[in-house]
Amino acid sequence: MKILITESLSHEGMAIIKKEKDIQVEERIGLSKGELLKIIPRYDALIVRSQTKVTGEVIECASRLKVIGRPGVGLDNVDVEAATKRGIIVMNTPEGNTISTAELTFGLLLSIARNIPSAVNSVKMRKWERGRFVGRELYNKTLGIIGLGRIGAEVARRALSFGMRILVYDPYVSLERAKKMEVQLVALKELLSRSDYITIHVPLTHDTHHLIGKREFKLMKKGASLINCARGGIVDEKAMEKALRDGKLHSCALDVFEEEPPLQSLLLDHEGLISTPHLGASTEEAQANVATQIAQQVVDALKGRGVRNAANMPQVSLEVLQLLQPYIALAEKLGLLLSQLVRGPVQEVRLSYLGEMKSHGSGPITTGFLKGLLEPIMKEMVNYINAPVLAKERGIKVIEVKSEEPEDFANLIVAEVKTAKVNISASGTILGKNNPRIVRIDGYHVDLVPEGCILVCENHDRPGAIAHISKVLGERKVNIANMTVGRKKLGGKALTVLNVDESISPAVVAEIKRSKIIVRVQVINV
Ligand code: NAD
Repeated sequence: MKILITESLSHEGMAIIKKEKDIQVEERIGLSKGELLKIIPRYDALIVRSQTKVTGEVIECASRLKVIGRPGVGLDNVDVEAATKRGIIVMNTPEGNTISTAELTFGLLLSIARNIPSAVNSVKMRKWERGRFVGRELYNKTLGIIGLGRIGAEVARRALSFGMRILVYDPYVSLERAKKMEVQLVALKELLSRSDYITIHVPLTHDTHHLIGKREFKLMKKGASLINCARGGIVDEKAMEKALRDGKLHSCALDVFEEEPPLQSLLLDHEGLISTPHLGASTEEAQANVATQIAQQVVDALKGRGVRNAANMPQVSLEVLQLLQPYIALAEKLGLLLSQLVRGPVQEVRLSYLGEMKSHGSGPITTGFLKGLLEPIMKEMVNYINAPVLAKERGIKVIEVKSEEPEDFANLIVAEVKTAKVNISASGTILGKNNPRIVRIDGYHVDLVPEGCILVCENHDRPGAIAHISKVLGERKVNIANMTVGRKKLGGKALTVLNVDESISPAVVAEIKRSKIIVRVQVINV
């Protein structure tokens, strides 16, 4: 078996692979796209970092490839969907970078508070400008942390030891966890208006793209500072540039940019900006951690010793997988749907497997549901292997119920999700061999194909609602692929659910909401 490594892997990682007598390893750094396409058919596994673009075209040519390994977290450079279709396992090492990224965040925080980079440059220019670089203490200041996951929590621990007050915005964190960590959970608005320093530790997802934009900068305290060591794209850089130019922001520290390297970025011209070239994970320790982890994971997967941290593979035998696959996929869609419908920390999940599903092993199906439930929140981190562990870590109680009661369908998954405020359910079935349908949402009967962009509108059950929604979508050139309407009783409320071919902008949602006949509108991506 042969492994190709296209970006340098630490010697600790190489040593693990070289121990295996039946595995050959070739290190080919700096391959062009054409060279990679030419040689990839010879390899069983590929280990890349962030520079090698593993596109659909590369995957198409990779006739022997079984595993793609990425030491680190981000899989932005790997076409995971194409790999999944070809049955190639894509794995990463989500835990190895946490401390390094938290420490860099703290380094940047101290750097902007005490003007360290500019002061260093000034001394190197043979100047002695003590008056110019008067800084600010961190002690007694308020740090706003957006996203209290692995890295956010490590940053919080460090900030507490500096005597900072900590506000957290993370709609998926429970009050108990916040209390235990001695931080205060607040709404984003409050965090922005009260924090002296703000640091971002959320993944880049559909929801977090431009989470911090023009409106959010307006809400910030004058003279606040912002740090982003998560992903470019979470902050709208144009709005950030303006906030720096207007003097609204004292300073910004960025390890990540919307486009990397940020050669054209106007931000670089501001004295108030300090930046590092995406160095969050670049420490000897993190490199060694992730290199040894990925080397071991890839070797184990090739030798059939088990798969860990796979971003795209349920962990069951092939025959069972074939049998359960339609139900796993349906459960994942139900999880995705409910996660986006509830928003807020989930306390309990109840999954009822009805009808012919009683005889199926439910473990992988439940895992599929949990993966879907957590994915909109954690994106890169969730896979079929770690979803149950992550759910447990988050204090989510999972209850499985099986019953022969078939209701109206031969097989039915009823998923109920409970938060402190709401209790919401959705049910799905497989028609024929593999035709998934969502048949009930929150008590409303529907007939929905769980695919792509879905518009969920609750409206008063009166004439005009459907006409209004269709008119807005038609005017905005959004094509409706499928529409289903359900109601609980005549003249009450109804649920109109539409599959649409184009993504729906907040402006379209606002326009639909403008009519009094509409109660609420949500855009869901499954
Ligand atoms: P994590 O999954 O442990 O934590 C992410 C947290 O964000 C979770 O607690 C989640 O509840 C929260 N969250 C999700 N959506 C949110 C939203 N819309 N609003 C508020 N909170 C939301 O991830 P982590 O290990 O802490 O990593 C965070 C991010 O840091 C990663 O996604 C990655 O993009 C980035 N990262 C960057 C580097 C670097 O080199 N600069 C290195 C490692 C990780």
